[in-house]
Amino acid sequence: MAHPNAPRKRFGQHFLTDRAVIDDIVSAIAPQAGQAMVEIGPGWAALTQPLVERLGHLQVIEIDRDLARELRGHAQLSVTEADVLQVNFTELAQSLNAPQLRVVGNLPYNISTPILFHLLDHVAVVQDQHFMLQKEVVDRMVAAPHSADYGRLSVMLQARYQMEKVLDVAPDAFHPPPKVDSAVVRMVPLVDVVDVPWSLLSELVRVAFGQRRKLLRHTLGAWLQQKGVATDFDVQRRAQEVSVAEFVALAQLCQGQ
Ligand code: SAM
Repeated sequence: MAHPNAPRKRFGQHFLTDRAVIDDIVSAIAPQAGQAMVEIGPGWAALTQPLVERLGHLQVIEIDRDLARELRGHAQLSVTEADVLQVNFTELAQSLNAPQLRVVGNLPYNISTPILFHLLDHVAVVQDQHFMLQKEVVDRMVAAPHSADYGRLSVMLQARYQMEKVLDVAPDAFHPPPKVDSAVVRMVPLVDVVDVPWSLLSELVRVAFGQRRKLLRHTLGAWLQQKGVATDFDVQRRAQEVSVAEFVALAQLCQGQ
């Protein structure tokens, strides 16, 4: 498609130009004809074009008015010109007559974490997500306990999704090149997530990792005591030693008391 303007920094615009990387990402997504897919931030259509060729139809969400105008010229695209953080994905799935959506995008890095948390609210209508993000963020998302990258983002997302890093992408794959390395992550919602009190989990994980070097008895232990929660949860360790399952179980226990 035509490039209506120079890349806009305020919209986090770094356009993919490396054909091999684009092919690798599309292969990782493995689009099939007829699937209901939504792309966040199509930009110059580097991913959009090969995706829609395979799908037949693609829903895109683009905030940049000039890019949205260009994209509207493509017969197989439905274009929502909006801030993705304002888009209700549950309503979008209904309007597409789809029980579930596949969501993809080379995300604007300045709002990538808010986008991930926004999508948590709509996880029931998500089949899977493939996102390009800062490598450092992907490393934190998929980090295992006992590693330096394991933290709030790891726990909150791993409690909801099975996640894996699909590929690393160097800055020279983009125009203009970002200052950081990038990576693509696959996120598949877990099916057996029942009755997790999300706001409680969020609060206790925030308390636990707030001062991650301290023993939990000074942070989470004090918080549990204040809430009057009786538990034999071991607080003589640091937050990064606690598994996702243990955090979830503790949130469930707190809710029950
Ligand atoms: N998909 C293209 C590619 O891979 O070359 C562009 C990726 S670029 C990193 C991010 C895209 O997201 C841009 O097209 C930008 O205009 C769009 N964008 C930025 N903020 C957005 C927002 N809040 N809602 C929707 N789209 C946004």
